[in-house]
Amino acid sequence: MAKKQPRVRPLLVRPGSRYTCFGDGLCCTDIHGLGPLTKKELVQIRKIDPDGAAWDEGFEARMLNTAPDGGCHFLLPDAHCEIHARYGPGAKPEGCRRFPLGLVATPAGGRITTEHRCPCRTLGDRPLLTEEAALPSLRGPNGKPRADREVVKIKLAKKVKVSFDDWRTLEAELLEKLAGGCPPEEVLAADPFPRLKHSSWEDEAETILEEAPDGTAFGFAALWFAETIRGLVVDGHRVRVPLRPWAAAFDRAEQRPAESANSADDVFADWIADEIWALKWYERPFDRARADLATRLAIARDIAWRLEAEHGVALARAAAEAVMVVELIGESDFWTEIAELIRV
Ligand code: SF4
Repeated sequence: MAKKQPRVRPLLVRPGSRYTCFGDGLCCTDIHGLGPLTKKELVQIRKIDPDGAAWDEGFEARMLNTAPDGGCHFLLPDAHCEIHARYGPGAKPEGCRRFPLGLVATPAGGRITTEHRCPCRTLGDRPLLTEEAALPSLRGPNGKPRADREVVKIKLAKKVKVSFDDWRTLEAELLEKLAGGCPPEEVLAADPFPRLKHSSWEDEAETILEEAPDGTAFGFAALWFAETIRGLVVDGHRVRVPLRPWAAAFDRAEQRPAESANSADDVFADWIADEIWALKWYERPFDRARADLATRLAIARDIAWRLEAEHGVALARAAAEAVMVVELIGESDFWTEIAELIRV
């Protein structure tokens, strides 16, 4: 039988995904790298403003420049984009047009994915995401939807591969449980902080603490992440709570009028559902992905608890900030290396 090829059509939204851009502005800061840009994009940006973008030695890529406050060079005081305001959305680099959306090609079609490090995705009243609304952001340079990755088969465990159809059956059960209010810990059914090959969680936290602090919002997120690991795995460790340079974006999100609010449980379940749906983990077996997610969920729960207990942050917002931290670090080199060490 011919192998089913990955494709981007039809476009598929995970039922229940809610998102629209409210301009909270967090994605346009040094919470993550603002790039990479193509050569052509760099030239176009520099025509608008020669100080707007440059080669970045740290990222080893062409990136948008940030101002001393950590915001993009083009971020206006009202948290909107100057390029968008003056020249329209099409003038922005593709990465800016696309975030927080993504696309994964599968034999069943193109799964639209969403990042949860943005309060426009995680907090308050948000409309259901539709294929039509997402499509303009997902187009590549040729005008067609461009996939970030292609997935054909799924590894459930080290020597157990299943077809994409079989995976969808299994996945549907997990997503249904999450949508029905089953705690994500129960759905993942994996212990957090599994054994690490030739390392320990304490040592990994130390490495992040030594290497991450650089004064950026990302650096502070990494401090939250590593300090929380130490609080959870080292007996008697007193967590030193770092600053939260992203707080203003969440303040804006909280001030948006909302008829119905989501709860902290919704925020966590929605994130885990998207992590499963987005298949970012597809190069690893799903049993390791479960342990990875169970660990980051435990870290996120603890951060949310601390934000509420020690900073008086409302629990749904605390959960959204915590998910932002664990998603952000989950996509960094720090976590990529740790995830390789996980043993189940
Ligand atoms: S160019 Fe505009 S959309 Fe892109 S990061 Fe800067 S302010 Fe944000």
